Amino acid sequence: MTMIRFKCLLITAVTCFVATSAFAQKKLSVVTTLTDLQQITQQIGGDKVEVISIATGYQNPHFVDPKPSHILKLAKADLFITSGLDLTTGWAPSLLASSRNSKIQSGSAGYVDTSVGVPLLNVPSSVSREQGDIHVFGNPHYWLDPFVGHIIAQNIYNGLIKLQPANKAYFAANLKAFNEALDAKIAGWKLKMKPFNGTKIVAFHDQWPYFETAFGLDIVAFLEPKPGIPPSPSQLAKVMNTMSSQSVSVIIMSPYEKADAANLVAGKVGGSVLHLATSVGAFREVKTYFDVFDYNVNLIVAALQKASH
Ligand SMILES: [Zn+2]
Repeated sequence: MTMIRFKCLLITAVTCFVATSAFAQKKLSVVTTLTDLQQITQQIGGDKVEVISIATGYQNPHFVDPKPSHILKLAKADLFITSGLDLTTGWAPSLLASSRNSKIQSGSAGYVDTSVGVPLLNVPSSVSREQGDIHVFGNPHYWLDPFVGHIIAQNIYNGLIKLQPANKAYFAANLKAFNEALDAKIAGWKLKMKPFNGTKIVAFHDQWPYFETAFGLDIVAFLEPKPGIPPSPSQLAKVMNTMSSQSVSVIIMSPYEKADAANLVAGKVGGSVLHLATSVGAFREVKTYFDVFDYNVNLIVAALQKASH
């Protein structure tokens, strides 16, 4: 073997080794629609993933302004994780198409819909967008039931092992830890909410049926006459009547919803308005999926305790 040939072989081997180890350690680039999906993906994916969310936690997920930077991120992504249904119909499909990334289009291995297997609530008998309804496939705010967090995590896990089967044991261990921690937290939240089982409340937008079911609340009216339609004077009058006649003292809403209507109604009937976290990042202290429920349960329990005295 000549010296030149030997050097060539050596260089090839080194290049090959560097390329292989870089490939093995390359983190999966993941883009999610929501911060909640981002946070759960981070928990399951650990140091094997790099995850960003398009929507922030203090933004209305129905109405997100697509930006060129989102398209660039999607163009380079290995995995796209969406909550599905029609929550993000107004912006996610067009961003996905603009990315021209065939790996993450619906039906590809790099596309995960976390609504798969979720027992949906409020599924209408006929699909119609009459009057601007934005919940035509059933209520899409399912992550607000912490039990559903298990299904979301499972769907994310399924997506991760499809792309990185070599890390299956690692992802499975993280999934198990997440599920166990979630179950322990759920038991605590349920215990705190137990004394208020069946309590009637009012909500701004119809995004709480899963939360309501999980914690035994009874949402009797909404400030929006239909999901996505702003509160109207006639609707507010109806809500005031309902609150007075049924002794309802609390209105719950998101930080991104305008508080004027809720404050007006609460002022008239002597109730209070609670700004709850509808996603991770809704408030500075809401950093994890568990924080969403810690935050909301604490706020609701405090308000209902006050109202009952
Ligand atoms: Zn909605």
